Amino acid sequence: MYLSDEQWDEMVERINRRAGKPCPLCGEGHLAVGRLVFEMRPFAFGSASLEGPILPVIPAECTSCGYTVLFNAVSLGVVPLDEDGEVS
Ligand SMILES: [Zn+2]
Repeated sequence: MYLSDEQWDEMVERINRRAGKPCPLCGEGHLAVGRLVFEMRPFAFGSASLEGPILPVIPAECTSCGYTVLFNAVSLGVVPLDEDGEVS
C-alpha cells in the first residue's frame, strides 16, 4: 500500500511531533520516512503465513548511517482497524 501525499504529510508531521530528534544511533542524520506500508506476519519457516496477526509498518531510515526503524501504521492512523480491532 502506497501512501497518498496527504497521508504521507500527516504521518510525517505526527512522527516529527513524537520523535523529531536526530538519529539515536549516529546522532547526525534525521529519519527519512517511506511512502510504502509493509506488513509483518508470524514466521512460518519459509511459507506464507495466513494465520495470526498482521502488523502494518512503515520503515524510516537515517539519512546519515542507514539505521532503520519501523513505525506502526495503525498507531500513526494510516491503517484503520475494523470493528473487531483487526487490520482491515
Ligand atoms: Zn544515523
